[in-house]
Amino acid sequence: MDFLRPASWEEALAAKAEHPTAVPIAGGTDVMVEINFDHRRPAYLLDLNRIELLREWEVGEENVRLGASVPYTQIMENLRTELPGLALASHTVASPQIRNRGGVGGNLGTASPAGDAHPALLAAGAEVEVESVRGSRLIPIDAFYTGVKRNALQPDELIKTVHIKKADGPQQYSKVGTRNAMVIAVCAFGLALHPETRTVRTGIGSAAPTPIRAKEAESFLNAALEEGGFWDNGKIITPSVAKQFADLVSAAANPIDDVRGTAKYRRHAVGIMARRQLGWTWEQYRGTGRTLEGAA
Ligand SMILES: Cc1cc2nc3c(=O)[nH]c(=O)nc-3n(C[C@H](O)[C@H](O)[C@H](O)COP(=O)(O)OP(=O)(O)OC[C@H]3O[C@@H](n4cnc5c(N)ncnc54)[C@H](O)[C@@H]3O)c2cc1C
Repeated sequence: MDFLRPASWEEALAAKAEHPTAVPIAGGTDVMVEINFDHRRPAYLLDLNRIELLREWEVGEENVRLGASVPYTQIMENLRTELPGLALASHTVASPQIRNRGGVGGNLGTASPAGDAHPALLAAGAEVEVESVRGSRLIPIDAFYTGVKRNALQPDELIKTVHIKKADGPQQYSKVGTRNAMVIAVCAFGLALHPETRTVRTGIGSAAPTPIRAKEAESFLNAALEEGGFWDNGKIITPSVAKQFADLVSAAANPIDDVRGTAKYRRHAVGIMARRQLGWTWEQYRGTGRTLEGAA
């Protein structure tokens, strides 16, 4: 196995063009497990650790540009206000050691349906900026996941940055696991309220072949909130609306039975998380989040 160590982004792109089968390694918290267990024996490893720009982030007017290798710990410590859903999700990843190494670029590279960043990215709204020597392109997060552990990257492309919408309202993330730390999600759910556009977005993890949004549930809730004037009057969402939303989230899941849980349990649990998160985020919106005139 050859180890390629580019000193710059341009060198990394050139190396990936020359060796499209080279496996990029950032934190290595997925790659090294696969190599140690002999699940993968690539001819080339492409070490991205000397590339400073992958560890940088920038907070703009509307988006955060998050370098692919920014570790979870940095997201938790520095981007909690701008990216609350992703910061909460980062908290649930593994242990401090893994959170100091692993990042969102690696989570996207692996594209496991159980990856914790995905529901938060889907709910917030994100685009993945990928680049090769041929140029760069932005992939909407919904189009990034193409199958179980598959993504939309071409063999010569690398993930450079993830553009994530700054929170304009409350966000939540939770996952179900057999214990509180070092656990892969049995299933997970993320919710973001977007008062500016009067919409909600969701993300479901580990309950379908890929991370997905519950689009029918979103449409239902968007219509119900609009119809009832909820964004303006800040009333408590009725239990029947919350239940219907949760049922539609459950229906959007397409889980399997596996060692971590049954399909039935996963479908049930994502619905419970959806209902709870709607309650938490809406309470927050009714309290500090709502600035519209007439807010009660
Ligand atoms: C003990 C343990 C516990 C874990 N617990 C969790 C957990 O709770 N939740 C969770 O989501 N994950 C968990 N993981 C998995 C892992 O930590 C995450 O997926 C992490 O985000 C991977 O990031 P990384 O930088 O280490 O990726 P790496 O291992 O370096 O890379 C992962 C994949 O992404 C590719 N890649 C990396 N960077 C790029 C790039 N810039 N462009 C293109 N491809 C790239 C690699 O080639 C590889 O295919 C755990 C892992 C371990 C070992």
